[in-house]
Amino acid sequence: MSNVSIFDLATAGVQSLVPYQPGKPISELQRELGLDAIIKLASNENPLGPSPKALAAIQKTLPELALYPDSSGYDLKNALAQKLQVKSEQITLGNGSNEILELLARTFLTPDTEVIFSQHAFAVYPIVTQAVGACAKIVPAVDYGHDLTAMLKTVSANTRMVFIANPNNPTGTYLNAAELSAFVQALPEQVICVLDEAYFEFAAAAADYPDTLQWLARHPNLVITRTFSKAYGLAGLRIGYSISGEMIAELLNRVRQPFNINMLALAAVQAALDDSEHLQRTLANNRDGLQQLTEGFAALELEWIPSLGNFVSVHLHRPGLPVYEALLRKGVIVRPVANYEMPQHLRISVGTARENQIFLNALKDVL
Ligand SMILES: *Cc1c(COP(=O)(O)O)cnc(C)c1O
Repeated sequence: MSNVSIFDLATAGVQSLVPYQPGKPISELQRELGLDAIIKLASNENPLGPSPKALAAIQKTLPELALYPDSSGYDLKNALAQKLQVKSEQITLGNGSNEILELLARTFLTPDTEVIFSQHAFAVYPIVTQAVGACAKIVPAVDYGHDLTAMLKTVSANTRMVFIANPNNPTGTYLNAAELSAFVQALPEQVICVLDEAYFEFAAAAADYPDTLQWLARHPNLVITRTFSKAYGLAGLRIGYSISGEMIAELLNRVRQPFNINMLALAAVQAALDDSEHLQRTLANNRDGLQQLTEGFAALELEWIPSLGNFVSVHLHRPGLPVYEALLRKGVIVRPVANYEMPQHLRISVGTARENQIFLNALKDVL
């Protein structure tokens, strides 16, 4: 027997890490319960699926799979740059936008640096921070949202990065243009400011949602991350991107793996960008679905956190986990959020009208 504890060999940050808890896959619940009819409203996926144009592009690309993908993502970056009116040198592609969050941590953080984010913020921020041994400073939320004043007060000489999810997952809360712009301007230049806009396409409908791209010219410390996993319905392909100043993009490019984006993802996303009809259908389904869900909550006399995303967190006024488990037994997968310090909430992703109704019926039964 060895006397060496392998666990003790891991870095302190990794020893104290709690792994990310994903939504329960449909196949897993099928194995456990032998149920046929299962709906998953647990991972903020697009209930309409991907664009048919993306699927056709994948079909067309399949015969080329023996080749490595284009490491530079040349065509896609150009298409994105044109759409967003930025330079292609400002764009970084990631294996999901989560990879970009990780690249940022590996590029800028050391054990001597501090990272600021909010209570209830997206669970990947503490993971990428701790994995590189940096020190997380978690700022208490106000009404489930970011307390920007308190976050600014937390900035010290050692602060190197701040993560802001706008809107935030799992709360759905958002920061408007005026308040976020004031924060970005007040932040010292040596703090990398990561604005996570994973739900950008849904949120942009709000009149006071910030147009952050226009801030990039004045703030070389700014990074905006977006994804094709949510509104574009391509979570399974793993592709997201960031827009930043050219220097941040250049640094991230040094750290990333040379073929971090696969060939099918490159092709599919380029086609999906052209399918504005599918995106409009998705946004309309989401608007209607949020209304359907929140009307259902109101009828059950439950409160919810108003959300700009494709999900909504509902307050049950009782522990969420037993309700989550009872819903599972009825074939409905939602997301418990006790790990986000919200033990009495459940997060529901917007489904189709039919899925939303099945969920609401099941919730009524369970309660
Ligand atoms: C879903 C999500 C992401 C990223 O997802 P990817 O699939 O890795 O692009 C990033 N931030 C937030 C807040 C999210 O909810």
